[in-house]
Amino acid sequence: MATDSKRNKTRCSFCGRTEDEVSLMITGMNGFICDSCAVQAYEMVQETLKKSHPGLRTLNLAELPKPLEIKNFLDQYVIGQDEAKRHLSVAVYNHYKRLLQKDDDGVEIEKSNIIMVGSTGTGKTLLARTIAKLLNVPFTIVDATVLTEAGYVGEDIESILTRLLQVADYNVAEAERGIVFIDEIDKIARKGDNPSITRDVSGEGVQQGLLKLLEGSVVNVPPQGGRKHPEQKMIAVNTKNILFICGGAFDGIEKKIAQRLNTHVVGYNAARNTAAIDRKDLMQYIAPQDLKAFGLIPEIIGRLPVLTYLKPLDRAALRAILTEPKNSIIRQYVKLFEMDHVKLTFEDSVYEYVVDKAVEYRLGARGLRSIVEAIMMDAMFEIPSGQKDSFVVTLDYAKQQLDKANLARLQNA
Ligand code: ADP
Repeated sequence: MATDSKRNKTRCSFCGRTEDEVSLMITGMNGFICDSCAVQAYEMVQETLKKSHPGLRTLNLAELPKPLEIKNFLDQYVIGQDEAKRHLSVAVYNHYKRLLQKDDDGVEIEKSNIIMVGSTGTGKTLLARTIAKLLNVPFTIVDATVLTEAGYVGEDIESILTRLLQVADYNVAEAERGIVFIDEIDKIARKGDNPSITRDVSGEGVQQGLLKLLEGSVVNVPPQGGRKHPEQKMIAVNTKNILFICGGAFDGIEKKIAQRLNTHVVGYNAARNTAAIDRKDLMQYIAPQDLKAFGLIPEIIGRLPVLTYLKPLDRAALRAILTEPKNSIIRQYVKLFEMDHVKLTFEDSVYEYVVDKAVEYRLGARGLRSIVEAIMMDAMFEIPSGQKDSFVVTLDYAKQQLDKANLARLQNA
């Protein structure tokens, strides 16, 4: 009798165990599989795939996004900054090409690391983050301000590569073809030009260290980063194929540009050239020697052959940033309310008002978010527990909310 009942029970078609002996039985057309056999099967599939596609993310030039496609993608998220977008798109595309190169004809494509210069809040980090969404190589963003020379408090230069290793799941070959965005590169400028500052903890020494990475060398990287784990075994990473993109605000570099332009504009064409210079946006004339005047060592500048700039954001750009990008600030709030089944709309004049305030308090693009947040605070608190299915933000409401919020406080944020 007992055997009979066992025979009638559902059995895993792979291991033969019955329903009572496993946690879960999945039913197929002509058979069954238990949870532990399903897990084993999954692991086998993963193993086999890894063997047939080393690194899994094999690149194929035909499938890669072309510079124009990369730029179109960036356009969906970042307003303006065409110049920087074009340079980035080309650099990323060429980076892929270099990775695919078969080195048999003696022409070695050198990497073209990039440096982007532009005031804070003009979209440098946003560009880097957006490009990361599109890439199929490991990508990481690091902040140069945390870097110091060995011996000082802070992180060693090599820790830049720790993050890259982490995003590549410690697959060294993958990490070695990745892209690193180094933010705030201007903060490691040598302060030598300024006689009032004599101490230079983070300047030239850090640049020398960074140079090694940019040039392409084998670096010993602490897998856990920092130096909290002195016992950790180092991992050797070759930086030859890693693309570096640097960004910095270079506050005050306009003065250096102006000085250079003034000293060069002499002689025959002087009058005409001076007239053609757009004094309001000097950044567009940036040249490698200005970076040198600012305090980057020539060797570093030489290793960052692509120099591009970001424009300061004007009113029109700020207005566009509010609503146009795919995940614009306004769209994000609409989405938040939608999740509570409330239709959120804004009067057009509210947008103008927000931009006015951002300009008035010199908050830039970052401030747009704080302003909208201040306007929406009460509504976000009350609406989820209310009965409304729609909410219109009128100009009067926005003004009243912002007056309450005390904008001066936002300015210091
Ligand atoms: P940066 O790195 O140049 O200091 P960010 O890229 O961090 O500036 O920009 C700060 C914020 O401002 C971004 O998160 C984004 O919301 C907004 N922003 C700045 N510039 C742009 C732009 N050109 N297009 C869209 N949003 C922008």
